[in-house]
Amino acid sequence: MITRNEGFANLTAGYLFPEVARRRREYAASHPEAKIISLGIGNTTEPLPKFIAKAMADYSIGLSTPEGYSGYGDEQGNTELRKKIAEVWYKGLADESEVFISDGAKCDIARIQTLFGRNVKIAVQDPAYPVYVDGSVIVGAAGKNNGTGYEGVTYMPCTPENDFFPDLSVVEPDSLIYFCSPNNPTGAVATKEQLKKLVDFANKNGCIIIFDGAYREFIRDPELPKTIFEIEGARTCAIEINSFSKPAGFTGVRLGWSIVPNDLKFADGTSVNRDWNRVMTTLFNGASNVVQAGGLACLEPEGLKAMKEVIDYYLENAALIKKTFEGENFKKAGAEVYFTGNSPYIWVKFPGKKSWGVFDTLLDKCNVVTTPGSGFGPAGESFIRISAFGHHADVQEACSRLSKLAL
Ligand code: PLP
Repeated sequence: MITRNEGFANLTAGYLFPEVARRRREYAASHPEAKIISLGIGNTTEPLPKFIAKAMADYSIGLSTPEGYSGYGDEQGNTELRKKIAEVWYKGLADESEVFISDGAKCDIARIQTLFGRNVKIAVQDPAYPVYVDGSVIVGAAGKNNGTGYEGVTYMPCTPENDFFPDLSVVEPDSLIYFCSPNNPTGAVATKEQLKKLVDFANKNGCIIIFDGAYREFIRDPELPKTIFEIEGARTCAIEINSFSKPAGFTGVRLGWSIVPNDLKFADGTSVNRDWNRVMTTLFNGASNVVQAGGLACLEPEGLKAMKEVIDYYLENAALIKKTFEGENFKKAGAEVYFTGNSPYIWVKFPGKKSWGVFDTLLDKCNVVTTPGSGFGPAGESFIRISAFGHHADVQEACSRLSKLAL
């Protein structure tokens, strides 16, 4: 018989979000009267801007005509969209030949692991978006979990004590470093100086950075970098993975992109961009043409304006959530709130308490779903993540309940 991929056997706890969903389901089943509000998973809730939806509808109708029909497109993506991303979001910091259009950032994070194989060393921010580590375990780049973490993975704690920027000296040379900014779950955004440190470290030590910028459009502070390619030296050590999910509400529509600089090389001098092109043309068959028409509309002035308005809406939620957790009741319980106004996530520490314990209390007492920080890595213990994705009315109701909670 065929043996099981040992990566699956090595995966320990279930994926975080299904466990959150399971606890919510169980609670709902035993408390049918409860009106549960989710501030848990980072799923978008607001409708697509009309301008963007219409572009997809028009393209779709066009497909029913002989002139408008097209079949397979270029696997790397529509040339016009690649050009537009390079111009509008990278302002010349990336060339269109370095832009690859995809069906989303998570899918790219999974595919990118085939580029480096199972022998690569991994370094991740701790806490981190779970796919970096779990994906590495599945492909065999990370081994068994020895209780403190997976073999082959260096965890880089990002805590209030180090301003959520890791001590890079723990990273081994020639590692693949996953780095997410604005960060999920902490909401921290690396400054230019911090990213320069990271880039210099990577160049000096033969590392490649996988920079996940999925929340870049939440950055409101003009001093903060929106892409790693704003940093000198990044073109020889970094790949950026990004997405239309959060700025355009494309979580269900599905569209993302990656930037792999032509200057980035493997140890033997071969081009990473060329191999990525090979991965995308072999293991992927191009993003949906209808959706790419939506992506083009996003990058028109009207689309950009509409996306900004939706993000402003979520940031208003975030400000209210921050204020709520800074309230007297949480202060008395010792809660520490971390939020800089440049991400949809509020990261709250409950010193001395376990994350899942706080999660259960908030679910039980307020019927509000959050995400336990420990699910994002050992350094997330005692924290919870609260997501600002939600309708205003739901967030207001959740905050009203939370502000009355006696802890
Ligand atoms: N990267 C981060 C940091 C995320 O939080 C998420 C989704 O929550 C993704 C990537 C996934 O993006 P996509 O919807 O494009 O797959």
